[in-house]
Amino acid sequence: MLPKFCYGPVPSRRLGRSIGIDILPSKTCNYQCIYCQLGKTTHFSNTRQNFFPKEDIINEIKKFIKSNEEKTDYITFVGSGEPTLYRDLRDLIISAKNISEKPICVITNGSLLSDEEVQQALMNSDVVLPTLDAGDEKLFIKINRPHPSINFEKMIQGYIDFRKEFNGKFGIEILVMKGINDSKEELLKIKNKLDLIKPDRIDIKVPIRPPTESWVQIPDKNVIPILNDVFGEYNNINFPERGNFSVFSSNFEMELKNLIERHPMKQEQIFETFCSKEFNEQDILLKLSILASQNKIKKEIYNNQTFWKLTSQSIQ
Ligand code: SF4
Repeated sequence: MLPKFCYGPVPSRRLGRSIGIDILPSKTCNYQCIYCQLGKTTHFSNTRQNFFPKEDIINEIKKFIKSNEEKTDYITFVGSGEPTLYRDLRDLIISAKNISEKPICVITNGSLLSDEEVQQALMNSDVVLPTLDAGDEKLFIKINRPHPSINFEKMIQGYIDFRKEFNGKFGIEILVMKGINDSKEELLKIKNKLDLIKPDRIDIKVPIRPPTESWVQIPDKNVIPILNDVFGEYNNINFPERGNFSVFSSNFEMELKNLIERHPMKQEQIFETFCSKEFNEQDILLKLSILASQNKIKKEIYNNQTFWKLTSQSIQ
């Protein structure tokens, strides 16, 4: 049986190879980011709850880590939405820590870092990686389209307070988009917040995967000197993932759907993952076109590259 909550290890620019633990139904979030690679937020909520029974997740984590631990560098809570919306996240993190000596990472949008229970949960992890795409409320609402109960300044104070107490690594990711937040003025506003938060590092990314809103674009190259100017020694710009995704069984359709549910994949990455003695690129192209003709997956050209993602029919 394919795992329901755990996947990978998958390659990650920031973490090397990482086992992912996805504890939310797709797609559950308190944001509706214009650049989200998972598509539109179908469960838009800011209420923390246990979306699946905690015991089921812990049992699977135990089994999955046991058989994949040697192949991974990190165990990461991430996936089909915002992981801090899972109410008993603290218990899940502690369980994973008890099972494995690998560092535990939580990738979050940061919106709930001002919540004391969320802070307590994340204190048990080794790495926390929130995002910050805007330096003021107006742009925050435009880019992240947060739940109305989320207040930008309160959220930033949450970043500052959590950073002060947290002993692990705290790195902020900024997604820079053409004409949205790539001007010197907007980047300086973000930098001002970073100066208050004092993260260990920042990672600047651009939307390399097909975004929810088709008008979201990668910035022009002339943004690089502006980024260097604003962020100085922090410049760390767009390194696409390297390495293959790990596959579990010989069922191409199930394996592919399991992977692209979380990450639309580049066609060449699919080739790298699935090419074997049995399958060459032509075989895989044929399988992709059959699944597309059954409306299970769809092709999307973005930034001159071919990506494959699930159709909305397959997500439901
Ligand atoms: S990018 Fe992350 S925070 Fe934004 S809508 Fe998608 S899952 Fe939510």
